[in-house]
Amino acid sequence: MNKIAIIGAGPAGIEAAATLAAQQIEVDLYEQGERPLCNIRDKAFLFPNFAEAREVADRLTAKLDNPRIHLHANSDVDHLTESGDGRWIVNGETYDRVLITTGYRTFDAHRKEELGYGIYRGVHTSLEMEQMLREGKIVNANGDVPQRIAFLQCVGSRDEKTGNLYCSKLCCVTAVKQAIEVRKLIPDAEIFIFYMDLRMWGQHYEELYRQAQQEYGIRFVRGRISEAGGTYDGRVQIKSEDTLMGLPLKITTDLLVLMVGMEPSEGTRKLAEQCRICGDYGFAASADPHLDDNRTTHRGLYVAGACKRPMTLTDAVNDGRSAAVCLMGE
Ligand code: SF4
Repeated sequence: MNKIAIIGAGPAGIEAAATLAAQQIEVDLYEQGERPLCNIRDKAFLFPNFAEAREVADRLTAKLDNPRIHLHANSDVDHLTESGDGRWIVNGETYDRVLITTGYRTFDAHRKEELGYGIYRGVHTSLEMEQMLREGKIVNANGDVPQRIAFLQCVGSRDEKTGNLYCSKLCCVTAVKQAIEVRKLIPDAEIFIFYMDLRMWGQHYEELYRQAQQEYGIRFVRGRISEAGGTYDGRVQIKSEDTLMGLPLKITTDLLVLMVGMEPSEGTRKLAEQCRICGDYGFAASADPHLDDNRTTHRGLYVAGACKRPMTLTDAVNDGRSAAVCLMGE
C-alpha cells in the first residue's frame, strides 16, 4: 500500500487510521491540537445513554496505540495541493492518498447579538453548560444555584439571518440530555426548552424526550425567543411567542442556554477551498452523497466525518471506517 495521510484526529480520522493500521498500512495522522478528540473531551456525558464522554474518548484514543500510526500533534495543515501526478502534498510531504477528516466547530453565539451572549452574564452556550455539567456545579451570574433555566434550540441553524439554513441535527437531543442532567443536579429547578420542531431522529432519542417530560418534568415550549435582555439582579428576561397557544410570552430566567449548531471548522473550510471540493455552507463535498460518499471528485483525495455535514459521533466513526475500506480498495 502507498503512503497515506489523514488530516484531523477526530473520531473519523482515528477510526480510519486504526482500520488501516490493522491491515499493516502505515499512516501519518495530522492533528492541529495538542491532543485528539477535544470535541468529545469537552462534553460531560453523551446522548442517548449518558456514557461518560472522557471514557469514550479514552477508548477511541487507545486505538492510536499502534506503531503504524504516526500522530503529528500540533500540526496545522496549511497546504494541501495536488502534485500533478495524482499524488498530494501535505505540508511539503508527498502522499499517494489523503483523507480529510477536519470536522466541525460550533456556531459563534456572538453573531446572534439579540440573544445577549457576551453581554449578559446569565446567557451561556451549550458548550459552557457542558463544562458546568462536567464540574457538577451549575451557577447563575451571581454564583448561586439557578432556580429557572431555559434552553433555546436552533441557535445558528435553520436561520436565514446567519445564512445557515440547515439543521445541525444533534442539538435537539443534546438539549434534552442537558436538561435531564440539570434536573439531576438541581431537582427543584424549573426547566424550559424553547423549540421550533423537535428532531429526535436517532435510536432511543424519542424515548429520551418522553422521559424528559414524564420523569424529569422538563417543560417544552414551541416558540422561538426573539430577544434576551438583562435585569438589574443578573437574570435574563426573554421575549418569545408560544406558537402552539398563539400567545406572546415574557419570562425571566436565571440562565439562558443557547444550543449552538455545527459549522465547518476553519481547517475544513480552508482545505475544501484549496482542493476545490467546497460543498454547501463551506463543508467539504464528496463525489456522490448517495453512493460514493468518501471519494471526492479528485483521484487520491477522500473525505469522512463531520467535515461533510453535521454528524453524530457514531456516524463519524462509521464513516471513518468506511473511508479506510474505500481507500484500501484502490
Ligand atoms: S437539531 Fe434541533 S435544535 Fe438543532 S438545528 Fe435541528 S431542529 Fe434546531
